[in-house]
Amino acid sequence: MKKYLVILFVAMIMGFGFSYARASPNLVQNGSFERVASDGFAYEWKKSSWGTLESSFSYPVSGRTGNAVQVSIGELDPFADDHGALIETKYLLSVRPGEKYTYTDYIIGNGTSVYLDIRYTLANGSFLYRGLTSTTTSGVWKKTTVPITVPAGAVAMSVYRVANSAGTFTIDDVLLTAQPLPAPPVGKGFVTFSFDDGRSESSVIPLLKNLGIKGTFFLNPTPLIEQWEPGIVFTLAEVKTLVAHGHEIGNHTLTHSSLIGLAPDELDRQVVGSKEMLESMTGRSVLTFAYPFGDFDLASYALVAANHIGARGVWDSELNTKTSDRYNLFSFNPVQSTPVSQILSLIDQAANSGSWLILSFHQIGPSSLGMYSYQESDLSTVISYAKQKAQIITIRDGLSRYIN
Ligand SMILES: [Zn+2]
Repeated sequence: MKKYLVILFVAMIMGFGFSYARASPNLVQNGSFERVASDGFAYEWKKSSWGTLESSFSYPVSGRTGNAVQVSIGELDPFADDHGALIETKYLLSVRPGEKYTYTDYIIGNGTSVYLDIRYTLANGSFLYRGLTSTTTSGVWKKTTVPITVPAGAVAMSVYRVANSAGTFTIDDVLLTAQPLPAPPVGKGFVTFSFDDGRSESSVIPLLKNLGIKGTFFLNPTPLIEQWEPGIVFTLAEVKTLVAHGHEIGNHTLTHSSLIGLAPDELDRQVVGSKEMLESMTGRSVLTFAYPFGDFDLASYALVAANHIGARGVWDSELNTKTSDRYNLFSFNPVQSTPVSQILSLIDQAANSGSWLILSFHQIGPSSLGMYSYQESDLSTVISYAKQKAQIITIRDGLSRYIN
């Protein structure tokens, strides 16, 4: 009963009607500014200013709910390149053209005007700026809600607030949600191709490109950065290519450690430290997690939940539905001995029930790689079949647009 009350409450504060009681996760991390980073500013947020004007940021200040950020600027010099002071998320959100999002925030101030702008990163690395709206602040909290549709060519975005006239404003409760996936047509479902550990997976990059699908790669930053197995683990350049190709990078702990029974400091390093390292490697928000070996206990489940919008576990032969536990998604792990027909039959099951099948692969290549490897030609057969029977989605897509 308590869960329904919470959902109802979330639906009310999000401004939806009672008939639309759906809790989409916030794609902005620490959107309510409660959490303090080690540098003393708001965790996962960044402050900056353009031009020569005087600006200052205060954090934490008392907000609409708990902590908030306050931004003050002096007079803008019309002859200088003064554009104001910015508050934005530390990392970019990966996006795809045509995706729809809803952005909401609350600001209060002393009359200063504050722009809400968006900066898209295009595939060729250039930027596209769009003004969404402008808010003239007053002494009461003003709620802003704007729809966003990602334009052609965009691969990432950052939504930010920028003070544009002398004064002070305070921002709180930033929420960015993705539009739910439409129900699949009869006879179709959702399938995800995920790849773990970043070992012997280089051949997947051109394969996915040729087949035109986006996958999710759960990576361990330490072996990657330190190149523990040169020629086997992804290079940093390959990780950048994955991001540029629109694939999702997910967190799989620093060193592929089981999370059961870890001391709090080590657990924090493996879950939060790993996520932050992947974010600084890729420049993108890392929102999803996969438990190494599918292992977790109460403490690790709670820490993963506090830092991600969802997590993948292992539970062979089970399909995910809208009511699956978003912090322990089912997945099927094909290995060398798994017949292609068994995977195609699982895809059929997802298609017949309109549900979500997550496939988790480990190494792609010849059988000499070992029992956890999977043949490239078989993977190609499975992807081609899935494209006919299902919509191919990433883990983040499923978590932000399918799971309730
Ligand atoms: Zn793994």
